[in-house]
Amino acid sequence: MVDARGVQKHFGALQVLKGISLQVKPKEVMCLIGPSGSGKSTFLRCINHLEKVTAGRLYVDGELVGYEERGNKLHELHPKRAAAQRRDIGMVFQRFNLFPHMTALENIIEAPMQVKRQKKSEALARGRELLAQVGLAEKATAYPAQLSGGQQQRVAIARALAMEPKLMLFDEPTSALDPELVGEVLDVMRKLADNGMTMIVVTHEMGFAREVGDHLVFMDGGVVVEAGPPREVLSNPQHERTKSFLSKVL
Ligand code: ADP
Ligand code: MG
Repeated sequence: MVDARGVQKHFGALQVLKGISLQVKPKEVMCLIGPSGSGKSTFLRCINHLEKVTAGRLYVDGELVGYEERGNKLHELHPKRAAAQRRDIGMVFQRFNLFPHMTALENIIEAPMQVKRQKKSEALARGRELLAQVGLAEKATAYPAQLSGGQQQRVAIARALAMEPKLMLFDEPTSALDPELVGEVLDVMRKLADNGMTMIVVTHEMGFAREVGDHLVFMDGGVVVEAGPPREVLSNPQHERTKSFLSKVL
């Protein structure tokens, strides 16, 4: 589902990704950890077309992200095709970025109606299903300001799911939450993983990584330092930098 081959990202003279190679198969969950500034968000943003890869190849579901290959040359993808690729990828950020002037249900049906031209009745029915799936059936008419951080984040997940994505990206989805609200969001993510969603999760929740992740990738300074089954990486890290990082977060 995701195949990164030597992915690089430069911001002017600053190289933030220095050749990331990794693969995520359908239905797998990859957890991505690493110190602040190591390039985790930038990598997710490249997958989701928020940044453009500057060298290397990045494929999602077999398609080159943002470019097309003609002959041996890469050409930027037509914006319409880039938008179509992006539509199939859901992303949830650290800060719940719900539309404040819309109810939970309105937030969820907005993109399916505007982007996918779904009929309102269909979008509403699916929206209610999704709210139930994240445990918020009774909050359809609540505005974001009337919801807790954990509830807002669950609406954000439902909103991403409303586009029927084939891949979900999570960028520290629980980092801005009060500790007692973290579990309810992780539970929703765990259920999603159990139901076969392909996911890349940037997180500091090592319990989640251990129990839900198929792979754990430790990034530092724009490179993958170490990757493997979560239990192995967590209990028997091979690299000094991994050991040092884990000793701070575990
Ligand atoms: P992480 O998510 O692991 O904390 P980021 O991907 O956010 O790391 O950032 C990695 C590096 O890239 C940081 O040094 C950050 O300052 C830099 N960076 C991120 N976005 C930009 C940008 N738009 N322009 C310039 N530098 C950026
Ligand atoms: Mg980040």
